[in-house]
Amino acid sequence: MSLVKNIGIFIIVFAIFAFALSRYTPQDAKPEDVSLNVVATQIIEGTVEKIEIEQEKLTIILNDETEHVSHKEPGESLATTLSNFGVSAEQLRGIEVIVKQDSAWVVWMSALLPFLVPILLIGVFIYFMMRQVQGANSKAMSFGQSTARQTSPNDGKKKKTTFKEVAGAKEAKEELQEVVEFLQNPQKFLSLGAKIPKGVLLVGPPGTGKTLIARAVAGEAGVPFFHISGSEFVEMFVGVGASRVRDLFRKAKKSAPCIVFMDEIDAVGRQRGTGLGGSHDEREQTLNQILVEMDGFDTETNVIVIAATNRPDVLDPALLRPGRFDRRVTLDLPDISEREQILKIHASNKPLEENVDIRKIAERTPGFSGADLENLLNEAAIFTARKNKKIITMEELLPSIEKVILGPERKSRVISDKEKKITAYHEAGHALVGHLLPNTDPVHKISIIPRGRAGGYTMSLPSEDKYFHSKSEFIDELAMMLGGYAAEEIFFGDITTGPSSDLQRATKTARNIVTRYGMSDKLGPRTFGKKEEMIFLGKEMAEEKDYSEETAKSIDDEISALVEEALKTAKKIITEKKPVMEKVVAALLEKETLEKEAFEDLLV
Ligand code: ADP
Ligand code: MG
Ligand code: ZN
Repeated sequence: MSLVKNIGIFIIVFAIFAFALSRYTPQDAKPEDVSLNVVATQIIEGTVEKIEIEQEKLTIILNDETEHVSHKEPGESLATTLSNFGVSAEQLRGIEVIVKQDSAWVVWMSALLPFLVPILLIGVFIYFMMRQVQGANSKAMSFGQSTARQTSPNDGKKKKTTFKEVAGAKEAKEELQEVVEFLQNPQKFLSLGAKIPKGVLLVGPPGTGKTLIARAVAGEAGVPFFHISGSEFVEMFVGVGASRVRDLFRKAKKSAPCIVFMDEIDAVGRQRGTGLGGSHDEREQTLNQILVEMDGFDTETNVIVIAATNRPDVLDPALLRPGRFDRRVTLDLPDISEREQILKIHASNKPLEENVDIRKIAERTPGFSGADLENLLNEAAIFTARKNKKIITMEELLPSIEKVILGPERKSRVISDKEKKITAYHEAGHALVGHLLPNTDPVHKISIIPRGRAGGYTMSLPSEDKYFHSKSEFIDELAMMLGGYAAEEIFFGDITTGPSSDLQRATKTARNIVTRYGMSDKLGPRTFGKKEEMIFLGKEMAEEKDYSEETAKSIDDEISALVEEALKTAKKIITEKKPVMEKVVAALLEKETLEKEAFEDLLV
């Protein structure tokens, strides 16, 4: 396509050249061309005032100012030529004879131009061809170049991100405000002998706004922002990662002060020496190059590297050493008032009905990240649009919460009455056990509408944000998880595949109680097993055992004991409350979903 274009351009340029050249050849045919004998006659008659000789060309100027042009033989002098026509030396003497020398440049050019022009044109043509070929291969040529996307501060197109767009995260913002000052006024710190930190590590679960806040730092400071993701360093070919790092830092240093943002750094920054398989060497080299570059620039170079990860535990300790990513900024999942602020920011461009209670949505979304909340509002907007409504109300917002947690409802799935009945007993079992045990989260909603892979669900939510979990809470939760299993066994005398995921969760919880939290009376307050990060064929491999086979048996026994105890508790509750169970099941079969209030009314 563009090859054709280039050839087109070439032809046009050539044509213009040729035309100009042809116009240039002097064809000033104004003065009359006369023969030599006419000139001789004029001289003899004494009408000639002046003769200009320009190589073979003679310009004859008569007394009356008229000009004639004539030509002599090459190599012959004018005097000799004219004397052949009978002009005497006497007659010549009265005439002004001027010999005009061509300037050297003109001589050379007139000699060389005929050769130069084609060569030049061919050169231009070859140049264009080369560029064409390079363009096609540019992927291969720019292999070692970093693929970082650069955002500059005066990029008018995109609105720049500032701290205002980041809700909550007060401490993180304060820490990063410092970085903004380093970038804006480094001298203030350098003059006191302070070293400007080179690296900041943003740590937090996915979707808590790490990328967002890094952008905001660049926006606040008004400096360029280089954004690259850890996985972009590592490609199929060995050595690319390291050279991309070099290239990235070279570019960054050129535009200092600036921010280099490495997203998902755990992709390259995992601990060295634990990996298996091929990509591991490559990662190690890339990581080493990052370390070298970060040590390489001096304090005067105002480049600050911000890295983000949700797995700080797997990072190589060398990355965290002073002089590298020695600052750590933690972004947590938002608490209730932060959720409210985030919702408000993302609701600001959406038409909400006046009586929409954002606080209530914040209450119902513990554990949601900023990204989840954004998604929730988006789902609500889509839902509203599909109903052909113009304003988003609570009626769309509340179902969107569940959609984000559990995936869309599958109302179309046809369920037999028998399965529906089993599901109803199963969910009622969960809800009742959960409700009656003191240390579980209150039940918010029960539903027997299938969602995702689940046949139904019981949603229980903490009444406030929780950061710690106690042993008694775990024990009660275990019983609640087994409530569905217990109900199926008691009412049908048979078990379906329905509770299999409940059992998995229960077993995992029980294992954690014993091995991670040291909450088992028998095994005591210690942890069992070291989680080693080994990535092999994309899978995390087993944990390292730091206990004996005997202990392994005790752990298994303890896990089984915990689960059995929980099942016993659940069965006891359900057996005692059979009539209430029947009431809840009847309501579920009729309405399919029960809200908190409706459920609690059934229990009194
Ligand atoms: P991370 O990089 O931590 O995985 P992102 O920065 O990509 O998360 O966040 C994803 C989106 O979630 C952001 O674009 C933003 O819209 C929203 N978000 C997350 N946290 C916040 C917050 N504190 N305030 C406002 N929006 C947020
Ligand atoms: Mg991110
Ligand atoms: Zn269940």
